[in-house]
Amino acid sequence: MAFEGLTGRLQNVFSKLRGKGKVSEDDVNEAMREVRLALLEADVNFKVVKEFVSKVKEKSIGKEVMDSFTPGMVIIDIVNKELTELMGGSQAKLAKSNKPPTVIMMAGLQGAGKTTTSGKLAKLLQKGNHRPLLVAGDIYRPAAIKQLQILGEQIKVPVFTLGDQTSPVEIARQAVQHAKDNNLDYVIIDTAGRLHIDEELMEELKQIHTVTNPDEVLLVVDAMTGQDAVNVADSFNKQLELTGVVLTKLDGDTRGGAALSVKAVTGCPIKFAALGEKIDALEPFHPERMASRILG
Ligand code: GDP
Repeated sequence: MAFEGLTGRLQNVFSKLRGKGKVSEDDVNEAMREVRLALLEADVNFKVVKEFVSKVKEKSIGKEVMDSFTPGMVIIDIVNKELTELMGGSQAKLAKSNKPPTVIMMAGLQGAGKTTTSGKLAKLLQKGNHRPLLVAGDIYRPAAIKQLQILGEQIKVPVFTLGDQTSPVEIARQAVQHAKDNNLDYVIIDTAGRLHIDEELMEELKQIHTVTNPDEVLLVVDAMTGQDAVNVADSFNKQLELTGVVLTKLDGDTRGGAALSVKAVTGCPIKFAALGEKIDALEPFHPERMASRILG
């Protein structure tokens, strides 16, 4: 992940502010104009940018800030806090059911990284002393089942499959029962993706939802697709009530637009960030750390 453009531009704005002993309303307006451009250039949703800038402005233009000894620093602090808020404030933790197993349904478009992320999440849970079960519910993409089995073997996590002739809804139902019978405490269901959102896909996901009553519905989106990722998240959320988003390919995302917009647009917290193809390249998402990274 390298939000170089955004970080560089924000640092420019801030160094100008920091250099001033006194900050006028005009200075704030000028700085916010630059912040606005920097965010738009980073592909942040324009409504989100507008609201963000107006909030920061409102908090910055006031006697308290302007009369402080280091008004520039106070404004930078305000930006930092608002960026953190924009991404959800505090870390949104993964659900844990009182009545195991905790069921996690993974959704997303083809190629977003669903199968890979399912494996990574299993690994992360295993590291936390859990006993996850991976479920091969994507029966349409050739090789998706095999891909999950290979991941499972690699990390020594069982993979539940009934091949590609049983419906994913039935597979999911039996998988949850299998987890109960075998004392496995997390069920991660890899579902089918499509190139575009369509009725059939949504219908299947809704049915899997109905039979498994998941504790988490995580949408996997490719951060490199910027606002497209946000739009995909918004559409899924309208039909499926997501509980969280996983941003993948943040390692290749140079702008940061999806990371900064998805929570504000959809209301869904980002729960995990994937930063590479390797099996351990998945981290819980920390808004405050991300804000600090962006500010550089
Ligand atoms: P699915 O169709 O959603 O199940 O997608 P896959 O899990 O098969 O992933 C599609 C491609 O994206 C694969 O080549 C993955 O290795 C790659 N991928 C997944 N997550 C990441 C990530 O965080 N960073 C990078 N660089 N590649 C990723």
